[in-house]
Amino acid sequence: MLHRIRWSAGLAALLVFLVGCGGKPAQVVKTGGPLVVSSTFKGEYPIKVVATTGMVADLVRNVAGKHAQVTQLMGEGIDPHLYKPSSGDVSTLNNADVIFYSGRNLEGKMGDLFVRMAGRKPTFAVTDYIEDQFILEDEEQHFDPHLWFDVSLWSKTVGVVRDVLKQFDPKHAAEYQANADAYQQKLAALHEYAKSQLATIPKEQRVLVTAHDAFRYFGRAYDIEVRGVQGISTESEASVKEINELVQFLANRKIKAVFVESSVSEKNVKALIEGALKGRNHTVAIGGELFSDAMGKDGTPEGTYEGMIRHNVDTIVKALK
Ligand code: ZN
Repeated sequence: MLHRIRWSAGLAALLVFLVGCGGKPAQVVKTGGPLVVSSTFKGEYPIKVVATTGMVADLVRNVAGKHAQVTQLMGEGIDPHLYKPSSGDVSTLNNADVIFYSGRNLEGKMGDLFVRMAGRKPTFAVTDYIEDQFILEDEEQHFDPHLWFDVSLWSKTVGVVRDVLKQFDPKHAAEYQANADAYQQKLAALHEYAKSQLATIPKEQRVLVTAHDAFRYFGRAYDIEVRGVQGISTESEASVKEINELVQFLANRKIKAVFVESSVSEKNVKALIEGALKGRNHTVAIGGELFSDAMGKDGTPEGTYEGMIRHNVDTIVKALK
């Protein structure tokens, strides 16, 4: 079950605990306004940072440089929507100096834990400081948390990490600023790469069908029509009706390839392919595996945010062109 996190701008950053009705878990209500870190670092370097997804961890590594040691909770192939923190994770978070998570309800089962941690140490959702006007929602007004697929939007989260670190560790503020500037330049080039590559796919073939609806920001940023078998969270199951509609869509539009995701089961995508072949005699192939909510293996190019985006763009262009 997804809970809508309300966001209203203009007030100082604060956390409010809300107890949902019917014994539902507490929700975090975070307001906008200036980013304030209420404590400064007093320990021994490197600063111990804990990040949830690979995308957030990579962000922090780029901005913090040598001054922080980043522990990433969710590795290759891990689905953050369903991720339940282990007792080991809780002690890792307890021992951290600073915590960064993606936010907008991506880590749907960790909300209570973040509220607890925020009472004790700097705990920030990097997407919370992106203005609401840029945030997509589904029909039920749930935030779409997959902001990292619009590289220009994700680049704004660099500023969040930079500002938290500058306040928490003012001694190295100039370095955090310089690192952030350099990384944002790199991301600007990456955004242009994605835009120019994807524009080479003829418009009528520029349709991305994937296991879950993780690519709506990608679609908006790079002018691609997107369809997911499951919704914006992998928590909801796809119905037979939804699969049949998508099969019809594939046949009508003569779409040749659909994509599997590294952190989501292939089951629904395979059902699509079988449905298209059996029901409508339309052949659809798997266009490749995309990294959606988790990056690739550590130490490979896809184990970085930049490599993950490049892999996805190149895979999509190759399959659809
Ligand atoms: Zn997702």
